[in-house]
Amino acid sequence: MTTATQCIFCSIARDTANPDVLYRDDRCFVVRDINPKSPVHLLVIPNMHIASLAYVGPGQVPVMGHLFVVAEEMARRENVTLSGYRLTLNQGPDAQQTIAHPHVHLMGGRQLGDMG
Ligand code: AMP
Ligand code: ZN
Repeated sequence: MTTATQCIFCSIARDTANPDVLYRDDRCFVVRDINPKSPVHLLVIPNMHIASLAYVGPGQVPVMGHLFVVAEEMARRENVTLSGYRLTLNQGPDAQQTIAHPHVHLMGGRQLGDMG
């Protein structure tokens, strides 16, 4: 299991001077995906390392809900609120999750295909 000391998203969270961070507050931060799948492809990432959604309980509801509030704010900044966008949170192997620190993908700027 990836620990917080090995986790790439935790290292970005710790680097408060990282110029790639588009948005930051006390609960989350936002970066552009390094391998974008759409013209707008951002990641909204909690500061806290949570190895799996299995560890999300009532105590994490404020931070997890906040990710969606920040995603909408970022969509507005990226001018995709009217054209539309997709929020995706991959969990586990079948969803092809590659980084074991929860993150919401915000994708837009083109017609997105069917989910599948
Ligand atoms: P997932 O497959 O849902 O775990 O998504 C992980 C995403 O993180 C992928 O879309 C990667 O392209 C992206 N990614 C990996 N490393 C970085 C990084 N250092 N900065 C920004 N995005 C990254
Ligand atoms: Zn982490």
